Amino acid sequence: MAVLIDGKATSAKIRGGLAEKTIEFKKKYGYAPGLAVVIVGDDPASKIYVRNKKKACDEIGYNSFEYALPAETTEAELLSLIDKLNKDKAVHGILVQSPVPSHIDEKKIQAAILPQKDVDAFHPVNVGKIMIGDYDFVPCTPAGITELLDEYGIETCGKSCTVIGRSNIVGKPMAMLMLHKNSTVTICHSKTPDVGAVTRNADIVIAAVGKAGFLTGDMIKDGAVVIDVGMNRDAAGKLCGDADFASCEKKASYITPVPGGVGPMTITMLMKNTLKAAELLAEGE
Ligand code: NAP
Repeated sequence: MAVLIDGKATSAKIRGGLAEKTIEFKKKYGYAPGLAVVIVGDDPASKIYVRNKKKACDEIGYNSFEYALPAETTEAELLSLIDKLNKDKAVHGILVQSPVPSHIDEKKIQAAILPQKDVDAFHPVNVGKIMIGDYDFVPCTPAGITELLDEYGIETCGKSCTVIGRSNIVGKPMAMLMLHKNSTVTICHSKTPDVGAVTRNADIVIAAVGKAGFLTGDMIKDGAVVIDVGMNRDAAGKLCGDADFASCEKKASYITPVPGGVGPMTITMLMKNTLKAAELLAEGE
């Protein structure tokens, strides 16, 4: 039976630490860290994420600035808002909630955010910094996973790690972080002919596929660590991960449940990045 990696408890512990550091920050600089969240359109899931981000800011003691723009907002209007937020001294982190409507070029938006305020770490400068191992910000989901590995004392040095998925927000940065943590890293994707043949050799398997029950127990070795990033709905509409929990749990040494594993860490890492951005900007003044 695998040890369950508790993302909720780890997240609560980190948020407690951030709240304490925020009190110190306010004493030292006389203002609170500020996060601006921009949402364009009315995607229901995005609205929930934005609400949860505001809640986390309130809980920790940050200022939060929400910009809810109509779906017809033009790219130029959004770029103009980002320019304003880049210059706003009360704003230390800027996040544009994904997805944006299709008439807006998301890459252009990501590149317009000042790298020092890019708390999602999607700006090409920050992506490049992760590549060379000299970074201030890491995308929130991979950052949360490394925190969980550290919290549970899971050895990564010299271990083999397979990441399934190569998206810019999870798979690729995750693979780079595991490389920086001295794992031997393999990335699988939709063109990998036999994913199981690769994952069966891995000490750590990180599944970021977006397919319910994709990783089954026969695809992992005994004692593997299974990190499940997936957030899918099963036939009954219940939230589930990329791993088939029942079969993986029997063989794994550690496993993240869905819900309650990786998910709760993501917004917490956004909060951590926001405080870091505020500290770096304050020190630079
Ligand atoms: P994505 O952009 O759709 O990427 C999915 C990746 O899986 C792609 O690289 C794709 O390969 C690969 N893939 C698809 N089918 C495959 C197959 N049969 N075999 C091997 N690889 C396959 O998704 P994402 O944004 O990375 O998200 C992945 C999952 O994590 C989703 O369920 C998402 O909801 C969840 N997620 C959770 C959090 C959280 O906070 N917990 C945050 C972000 C995402 P190709 O590149 O070849 O197409």
